[in-house]
Amino acid sequence: ESALADYGKEDKVLVSIRIRPTNATSAWQVADTTPKSIKLDPQYAKTTANPPQDFRFDEVLTGSENKPVYNAVARSHVCAAMDGYNSVIFAYGQTASGKTFTLTGDEDQPGIIPRAMKDIFAYIRRTPTREYLLRCSYLEIYNEAIHDLLAPPSSSVSQPVQIQGTGANIVLTPLREEVVTSLKGVREVLHRGEGNRRTASTDWNERSSRSHSVFRVVIESRERNSGSGSGSDSAPSGRSTPGFRPPTPGGPRLQAKGGRSVQTSVLSLIDLAGSEKATSDKERTREGKYINTSLLTLGTVIGTLAENSAKNKNDHVPFRNSKLTRMLQPSLSGDARISVICTINPDATATGESTSTLLFAQRIK
Ligand code: ADP
Ligand code: MG
Repeated sequence: ESALADYGKEDKVLVSIRIRPTNATSAWQVADTTPKSIKLDPQYAKTTANPPQDFRFDEVLTGSENKPVYNAVARSHVCAAMDGYNSVIFAYGQTASGKTFTLTGDEDQPGIIPRAMKDIFAYIRRTPTREYLLRCSYLEIYNEAIHDLLAPPSSSVSQPVQIQGTGANIVLTPLREEVVTSLKGVREVLHRGEGNRRTASTDWNERSSRSHSVFRVVIESRERNSGSGSGSDSAPSGRSTPGFRPPTPGGPRLQAKGGRSVQTSVLSLIDLAGSEKATSDKERTREGKYINTSLLTLGTVIGTLAENSAKNKNDHVPFRNSKLTRMLQPSLSGDARISVICTINPDATATGESTSTLLFAQRIK
């Protein structure tokens, strides 16, 4: 397990592929997969215009088990968030490729969100030297409007969430944040948000595949009984999760509050809108345009961040081109950790979309 959790520590962006199982008789033209790469069938590659045939990623995952997926592509990001680093985990892919299965999962196979929350509470229990405050919010971005899923559906539509401020000082308002102290509390928050999301949409399937959903946990902590007024804004305590090292030097953000330094970080878990090309005239005109713009912007933003970090450059990052990236700017900049899980449906009918997902994943790596 610790070996798995060690992956990707040095990279700002961890990019992985998850190929779901298929029942189809005719499957996608993959010649071979290894734990790190996908080779397309040369026969198929010949028929495409510009065929990259050999893709390499941080992880290539298959199967129906959510635990190994969590360990490989999410666990170290959750630990980083507990240690004061902003972390974002995205699921990207066409509708029905397994984004929600990966993030939310089901009773048998809990996904990344419930596993992350379980780990967070376990981390808090084994860290008695600090006290923690967890606040959850749950948002949906649909047609470039942000809706608070924890507000009553009527008010979340009539009063969309606004982004105020710039750069690292973004404030979302009005936004409900629920303090949670147990997994049960988290389940209630998720359940309420999910219910509001369904109520607000006339066509649930359409809406859920056309909107981004964002589950956020703000994690605040401070040293217990650190001498009051001593102005202790020392580096985080030496204690750390086994197998976890902070990703980059510089340290988490600390802020003095009431004489004790408070460490604040945000963990964002994001189920993106379906990446498929517009399928109807309606989508082509309005919604499709928004979705394509925001996913395209996300690709450019993450690609630029990865490149800036790897090559020590300072290229302009177009955060402001979409609500999603604007909202996430503080959580993506600086020493933040990012994991993008690209999900793929291996049915032959999805070959075109699967290939464009691989190209997206390659672009942000
Ligand atoms: P998306 O959120 O991308 O639209 P879903 O997560 O809803 O897709 O997945 C579509 C269907 O496929 C669901 O019934 C889901 O349970 C199933 N599924 C997706 N990924 C897997 C997987 N890795 N193993 C088993 N079933 C999966
Ligand atoms: Mg889904």
